[in-house]
Amino acid sequence: MPFTDSDLQHPLDKRDPLAALRQEFHIPANTIYFDGNSLGLLSHRVQERVTQTLQKQWGNDVITSWNKHNWINLPLTIGDKIGHLIGAPKGHTVCCDSTSINLFKVLSAALQLNDGRAEVLSTEDNFPTDLYMVQGLHQLLGERCTLRLVPEGELLNSISSETAVVLATEVNFRTGRRLPLTKLSKKAREQGALTIIDLAHSAGAMPVELLNHDIDFAIGCTYKYLNAGPGAPAFLYVAPRHLTDNVKPLQPLFGWLGHAQPFEFSVDYAPADGIRQFITGTPPILALAAVDAALDIFNGVDMAELREKSVGLSNYWLERMAAEGLLEQMPSISPSEAEERGSQLAFEHEHAFAICQALIAEGIIADFRAPKYLRIGFSPLYNTYAEVKQAVAALADIVHKHHYEREEFQQRNAVT
Ligand SMILES: *Cc1c(COP(=O)(O)O)cnc(C)c1O
Repeated sequence: MPFTDSDLQHPLDKRDPLAALRQEFHIPANTIYFDGNSLGLLSHRVQERVTQTLQKQWGNDVITSWNKHNWINLPLTIGDKIGHLIGAPKGHTVCCDSTSINLFKVLSAALQLNDGRAEVLSTEDNFPTDLYMVQGLHQLLGERCTLRLVPEGELLNSISSETAVVLATEVNFRTGRRLPLTKLSKKAREQGALTIIDLAHSAGAMPVELLNHDIDFAIGCTYKYLNAGPGAPAFLYVAPRHLTDNVKPLQPLFGWLGHAQPFEFSVDYAPADGIRQFITGTPPILALAAVDAALDIFNGVDMAELREKSVGLSNYWLERMAAEGLLEQMPSISPSEAEERGSQLAFEHEHAFAICQALIAEGIIADFRAPKYLRIGFSPLYNTYAEVKQAVAALADIVHKHHYEREEFQQRNAVT
């Protein structure tokens, strides 16, 4: 499907204060991309920074770069840039490892801090890796770590004096439902429970206020709305009250770069001060260079404006689906109130997989989530209203004319 400049002339795009940011990104030819909640787009800055890090830093300065280019502190300097987007004070966020591994670290820390309680309370439809990490820790710790799952709507009322940790993902990966962090945090505090919030679908998509909401720990990805590249290092946040004068290390993955004096090479572990003790091994510098550059795009971006555009795009999508008569055939499973949603929508259809394949064949990238949902992610930094209009028109064609029934759209690959 050929896209022309006139596609960008939608009146809503002309009024968009963030419109110019689209130029930062490499938009693949003839493609409309609504999958930034799974893997954000490559930006020109990231491409340049990684090349420069390879050639100038690794290539020419080799090992001196650890000091000369401050590689050793990148997990912390980048952590602070992420912290700025999630309402964290400086020195409380670190960029390292994967979200899963970071969850292992903060979960262990929380259970250790809330000694005497074992119950990790989470939701049945939380992202599976979050639940698996608890199950793994249960295998290791036995009755000192137990997982209790409740339906999302019952999470708040299930927090009790038995709860050690409330483990919640702010935005549900399937439905896009956004949980009320203020209420969860308040109830957890009243009951003596600690909070761990997964921001995988929040960071870079909407304002987050970790300190104001009094959250204990947070984790999240940088390859989704932060556009830092496939498998880019994740982040981890620890509230100030847990980072003061710790005698005991907070997390069990003792590694030399989380040690107070790594270059003393002493036999016994002693944790570094502050958030640095959450680092385990050597940071992946090339991947971090990409995260660092990707975050620079957010400089000067007003997160309230970003949120406004995210809501604008998703409301416009729903409006266009209604106009095309699609909502009866593929109803939305996302909350109807924008305040209760993240930056995505999901629609139910028996043939959602094939519909998604048919969209992809037209250059419109969305994703399918089992068992029967078509998921549309809105990245306010680069998506446009014109794209929404065009994508919904294509979807209407596919659904109303049953194009999805073609044999070629039924084939499933390893990654869906
Ligand atoms: C994408 C996602 C993850 C991914 O975890 P990794 O360890 O980085 O692969 C974790 N949690 C949630 C809620 C996610 O959406």
